Amino acid sequence: MSGIDDLPPLRDVIAAHDLRARKSLGQNFLLDLNLTARIARAAGPLPEMDILEIGPGPGGLTRGLLAEGARRVLAIEKDRRCIPALEEVAAAYPGRLSVIEGDALEVDPLEHLTPPVAVAANLPYNVGTELLVRWLTPQAWPPFWQSLTLMFQKEVAERIVAAPGSKTYGRLAILAQWRAEARIVMTLPPGAFTPPPKVSSAVVHLTALPEPRFPADPKILEEVVARAFNQRRKMLRASLKGLHPDIETLLEEAGIAPTDRAEQISLEAFCALARSVQAARQ
Ligand code: SAM
Repeated sequence: MSGIDDLPPLRDVIAAHDLRARKSLGQNFLLDLNLTARIARAAGPLPEMDILEIGPGPGGLTRGLLAEGARRVLAIEKDRRCIPALEEVAAAYPGRLSVIEGDALEVDPLEHLTPPVAVAANLPYNVGTELLVRWLTPQAWPPFWQSLTLMFQKEVAERIVAAPGSKTYGRLAILAQWRAEARIVMTLPPGAFTPPPKVSSAVVHLTALPEPRFPADPKILEEVVARAFNQRRKMLRASLKGLHPDIETLLEEAGIAPTDRAEQISLEAFCALARSVQAARQ
């Protein structure tokens, strides 16, 4: 017994299914079920929610989510070796856990989920960042999710919650804070994981706002911000010149000095610039 449920401890699950961690899949497992239950609570209130979990691995966070009362969990896992272990979890929680074997970057889980939906994941950081940007930039808002509770390298988590003027302020901060409320709810040392990664990690909780803080087209805002921060030390006049032939006028319309640098620019001003670019292209 493991403390939060009647299933075996995760070390035994890993040994029984020979789930040696694979670096190529970014596998750093959480084995402390009290910790995974705490992360699950950070995603709460679970009983009314369907939870989309990406990368369940041997099922530590999955069990935390189920033990904390999630109505249903839909878990997408790329590593086939983990599926039998997850099926044992599904059998212990009849009708509440469905597992899809596949790549989360390719599978569309929406048809299997009933709102309200929350997302929870402990993923390799490159996959996590790619999914986060996708979840933040659909054309229509509000999105399919009410909240995202995601583990990142601490340095990436800091980029998501960064304020203008700080070194970590950039594309992730703008896209996250434009349409969501983002905060770091927990930090974890490398030793919380097996095997331990090189750096500390942090859990970020994002709540979808009913509407974006400022109007802008998501694709154009993404393009503006990607270019602006691609050469963050350059003046915006130079880094954004490929956006439009008359970028200086568009910057001025948005209240931005052409000699400013990206990290000084507020979210509101970036949204104004995205609107000017859109109007000028029409
Ligand atoms: N959630 C488990 C935990 O907390 O112990 C495992 C976390 S481990 C950091 C990341 C998990 O994501 C692994 O099980 C890995 O196989 C899975 N994974 C990696 N890339 C994936 C992808 N593209 N789609 C779905 N799962 C993926």
